[in-house]
Amino acid sequence: MLELDSVRAGYDQIEILHGVDLRVDEGEIVALIGSNGAGKTTTMRTICGILSPTAGSITFRGESIDDEPPHDIVRRGIVQVPEDRDLFTDMTVADNLLLGAQTKTAISNREENLTEMYELFPRLEERKNQRAGTMSGGEQQMLTLARALMGEPDLLILDEPSIGLAPQLVEEVFDVVREVHEQGITVLMVEQNVQQTLRLADRGYVMENGRITMSATGTALLEDDSVIEAYLGV
Ligand code: ATP
Repeated sequence: MLELDSVRAGYDQIEILHGVDLRVDEGEIVALIGSNGAGKTTTMRTICGILSPTAGSITFRGESIDDEPPHDIVRRGIVQVPEDRDLFTDMTVADNLLLGAQTKTAISNREENLTEMYELFPRLEERKNQRAGTMSGGEQQMLTLARALMGEPDLLILDEPSIGLAPQLVEEVFDVVREVHEQGITVLMVEQNVQQTLRLADRGYVMENGRITMSATGTALLEDDSVIEAYLGV
């Protein structure tokens, strides 16, 4: 479904990704793990068209997307939940959700999808008329995720969806990821919560210093000594 082949990218003159190869197949949950500053967020931004690769290629369903602007990539069905929440803080929860519907089909289905989001995130329904900026950090994170789902993604890209959340909300985020995946959405996720993520993922990649250093099934990575030592704190 998504394929990165020898992708190089970065900021101004500084190259951060030094030739990244990564693949996500239809129906998978794929995890990208790595230490701080490894280039995980940069990889996500490059897939979504916020950064352009300086070399290599990115294809989605066999078509090149590496020269496309972000809104065209969204139109193809790739929706990202960014690490910084990027909400319209003066608008209500409901209006933020409605703005997540960007494609023609998502716009025509948006009332129905809104009802579904309120089922998935009851807390958002309780607070639908509240200004987004006055929600707690955890609630804003839920809203960001729900808004992305309003875009009816085929491929959902999550950058640290559980960062800074209380344990109960972390569980809720993982439950939502599991549920949307069961509904047929393919997922690529970056998460600090490595153990839980690798348990959920079909496959995972380890990134270090802008390069993929390991790739295996989630289960195999969980049992790998170097992964255990570096990321599972044993
Ligand atoms: P973390 O787990 O800490 O979020 P990450 O693996 O997501 O890390 P990136 O955010 O991709 O890492 O950052 C990779 C490198 O790119 C870092 O050295 C960072 O300082 C640098 N970087 C990130 N954003 C910018 C920017 N806008 N301009 C210049 N350098 C940047």
